[in-house]
Amino acid sequence: MTRPEGFVRDATADDGFAVRRVDMATAGYRVVLVDDFARPGSEWAPISGPTSMRCRYTVGPGHLTCKREPVAMVCRGRGRRYGGTWWAYCERHLYGRKLENGKLLNPILIASDAAEVVS
Ligand SMILES: [Zn+2]
Repeated sequence: MTRPEGFVRDATADDGFAVRRVDMATAGYRVVLVDDFARPGSEWAPISGPTSMRCRYTVGPGHLTCKREPVAMVCRGRGRRYGGTWWAYCERHLYGRKLENGKLLNPILIASDAAEVVS
């Protein structure tokens, strides 16, 4: 298998957060978990240590936000290289990702090598 950058491991049906993508995988494709903290070009970064930031995921009308303790942040807008804005999110609101052992696991669909059997 050609491994994408930031490859962590294959996703399985036991990865609850990834199960929708695993179910979507068809013959010739597989779902792997990549670390969005390590993947080149990713705009995600860990939050380490105390922060005044709070999860800004919208949970209600009038821009009501979650406000839980954040675990990761993503640079929106122009991106980190060009002065984008950092938005923080808690463990519940990582847009399909999961924080595990310091890695931000993101399930992505990739083409399997022709030589591999897809079960
Ligand atoms: Zn949240």
